[in-house]
Amino acid sequence: MLKFQSAISQKFINFLLPPQCAICHEITEKPYTLCMDCWECLEFITSPKCSICSVPLQGVDRDMPCMDCLKNPPTFTKAYAPLVYNESLKKLILRFKNYDGLHLGPMFCNWLQLCAIENVDFIIPVPLHWWRFFVRQYNQAAELGKIFSKRTNLPIYFNILKRDKATATQGHKNKFLRYQNLTDAFVVSDSSQILKNAKVLLIDDVLTSGATANACAKALLGAGASSVDVLTIARAIKAPADKVDYGTP
Ligand SMILES: [Zn+2]
Ligand SMILES: [Zn+2]
Repeated sequence: MLKFQSAISQKFINFLLPPQCAICHEITEKPYTLCMDCWECLEFITSPKCSICSVPLQGVDRDMPCMDCLKNPPTFTKAYAPLVYNESLKKLILRFKNYDGLHLGPMFCNWLQLCAIENVDFIIPVPLHWWRFFVRQYNQAAELGKIFSKRTNLPIYFNILKRDKATATQGHKNKFLRYQNLTDAFVVSDSSQILKNAKVLLIDDVLTSGATANACAKALLGAGASSVDVLTIARAIKAPADKVDYGTP
């Protein structure tokens, strides 16, 4: 009976406030989903991809390290990401980060769970500086981590990794400046020595140059972690042409 009543009231709510696509606001059947057109704009990452940083590869028939990872091996061990950071996904992630889009967390987590993550002991979200946290009122990486932890039963620790200084927005900087800007930006506070020999899964929203993930990994490995894998919703690629960055072997 209760179920019937709630079905009726949900229908009534849907009539008054029809659910909208989370990207383009087109009317959809269910709340917190995407319309068919926006769904088709998402680019899921499949093999062949870089076996270290997950960037999509072309011209090869299996996963292997990309040229960037061979030339400059990252400090983190491996990065997982279900999707390419394209324009459609960017709108969605910006809403999640900046415009009270916390209700999008479970949908993002469905996508995170597509990655076959193995061999990790616990989750640490990439921290926000206190000032950004104060302005935004939440840390999107921590929110993703909470849902992911609940669904996978992996423990999550929020206070081990901290930002030491507010770093300017990374988006407009070149790769060198990003690294320079983030050097020693993260510190570890691990009085119970939980990091000793631990396999950490670092969670964030987007992996762009890898500068943030590397700076976090440096701090965590320096404090005793044995590996630091990274899980993000999206992997940024420099341009569509980058997909062809491996050439014929
Ligand atoms: Zn749409
Ligand atoms: Zn790579």
